[in-house]
Amino acid sequence: MTAHQAPPPAPPIGVLVELTHRCPLGCPHCSNPLALERPAAELDTETWKRVFSEAAALGALHVHLSGGEPTARRDIVALIRHAAQCGLYTNLITSGIGVSAKLWAEMVEAGLDHAQLSFQGADEATNDRLGHYQGAWAKKRAFAAMVTGAGLPLTVNAVVSRPNLHQVGAFVDLALELGARRLEVAHTQYYGWALANRAALMPPRAETEAAIRLVEAAREKLKGRLVIDMVVPDYYARYPKPCAGGWGRLAINVSPSGKAMPCHAAETIPGLEFWNVRDKSLGDIWRDNPAFNAFRGADWMREPCRTCDRREIDWGGCRCQALALAGDAAATDPACSKSPHHARIEAMAAAEAEAGAGEIRWRSYKETVGA
Ligand code: SF4
Ligand code: SF4
Repeated sequence: MTAHQAPPPAPPIGVLVELTHRCPLGCPHCSNPLALERPAAELDTETWKRVFSEAAALGALHVHLSGGEPTARRDIVALIRHAAQCGLYTNLITSGIGVSAKLWAEMVEAGLDHAQLSFQGADEATNDRLGHYQGAWAKKRAFAAMVTGAGLPLTVNAVVSRPNLHQVGAFVDLALELGARRLEVAHTQYYGWALANRAALMPPRAETEAAIRLVEAAREKLKGRLVIDMVVPDYYARYPKPCAGGWGRLAINVSPSGKAMPCHAAETIPGLEFWNVRDKSLGDIWRDNPAFNAFRGADWMREPCRTCDRREIDWGGCRCQALALAGDAAATDPACSKSPHHARIEAMAAAEAEAGAGEIRWRSYKETVGA
């Protein structure tokens, strides 16, 4: 079926807006692109407000305010207020750095619904080293206290890889201690800076499986007290994740300069033209941008996905990963055990993990855009 014959897509559930690529931290696992967008290219306040209005009109329920560090935007309070007035559930995805008590109070008053706070380690030394920011630990803890003090739900987001995988149990304790309602243990996904740092971050399979078992046991034990979600590491999985819930199916991602994409890494795929919210409405982009229709649904799939009974569960996995690892964005995601590339990818991951080498390349604005 060609794009013009397809029925109009159901509305997205959420819109993830990368308000800026500026960030005080330098996490090597960052999924932002290596070519970080310049501050001067960021959308202005009025354009972001229009995007939020269009998201609500399109039927989206949530807006995830992300980055970089979203609170680096001076207009963050005005943006939260407008999103809340549009009826969107507002989720702030933050490092917790640079949020004063005054700014926090203003964001809550403006209608913020939820905060998702990242930790790079479960103790001070690991956290500050992997975030590449001395003093981050104390600031994050202070931020968590402001969130729970205001009665807002807090999610702790623990991104794990080889340097901190042994801390999974400590992350659970930390989330409980901070009064979080939810803990997301997110194994690093290898896009952007994380892909550049893969050799330094890839954990061994045995440790990965032990961490997964630990999380599953904790989830059971803490039922009703702490919700624990887990993003499993792709390269050791049997089946891939349904990337972004399926291409152009549940979510829209908007970059700091206004490029709208089905996921944050989609612009790595050559030949796709992603429309900009400066020129088109979000609704037009969602329905009509050929790039959104390129891998929507299951009609674009080839074997082994085409006849696989999981094709409407994982939607063939991740297109960006298929491109990065198999050299073809329309291939089955090599994270899938049915992919002809899977054994090679798994062996490469194991080799990188066992070698334990790889120098960390800290995410740096200066390095990529010369700011
Ligand atoms: S992963 Fe780290 S460096 Fe990247 S945006 Fe988040 S806090 Fe900043
Ligand atoms: S073959 Fe395709 S649809 Fe089937 S599990 Fe693998 S990625 Fe998913």
